[in-house]
Amino acid sequence: MFYGVDIGGTKTEIVAFDKEMQVCWRKRVATPVQDYELFLSTFTSLIDTADWATGMQGKIGIGMPGLMDRHTGKLLSSNVPCLTGRQVMDDLAHRLNRSVALDNDCCCFALSEAHTQQARQFSRIFGAIIGTGMGGGLVIDGQLYRGRNRMASEFGHLPLPATFMRRYNLPEITCGCGLQGCLERYQSGPGLLWLHKHFCGGTAQNGDAAGKLPSW
Ligand SMILES: [Zn+2]
Repeated sequence: MFYGVDIGGTKTEIVAFDKEMQVCWRKRVATPVQDYELFLSTFTSLIDTADWATGMQGKIGIGMPGLMDRHTGKLLSSNVPCLTGRQVMDDLAHRLNRSVALDNDCCCFALSEAHTQQARQFSRIFGAIIGTGMGGGLVIDGQLYRGRNRMASEFGHLPLPATFMRRYNLPEITCGCGLQGCLERYQSGPGLLWLHKHFCGGTAQNGDAAGKLPSW
């Protein structure tokens, strides 16, 4: 039995696969983003429930937003701030009494897509996720390309071009990564909502944006 767990800035979803990689069980819960102890207990409870539902102890693979320092094992997560500075993989393995594999969610997504029948014909695959945060994964010849600092595809934390900031009088919003004016703050799901309110007012509905938003 294999458990694939997607930890997002809003929800955490687990899917259990049998040895033929057929989905046999799934569950979704809210992600605790501020309280690390609550995060650990929520995750542990989710795995316990999966073990009970499947009748087995599955192997655990996790995709989550953020980067892990390969020397210390500590995470930097913009959208689940309680994980920043924590050795999440080791802490979960200790609590669950089994090994845990963990990697960046966008990298997991891109690697998975790169191995589909449709994508195998391409030597370079870039996968992008726009959700609570924003990021990507780059796969070259079937292998993840991470770059020197393992941030090769983290385009969400590049700065919004200064010309846009000036032209549309946009403030430099502080990002969860610690930088100012990251693309993620303006173009993720919450970022797009912020832009809508910025240009259309706090009470604007979706349809009110027509004709008011600048054409970028
Ligand atoms: Zn950032």
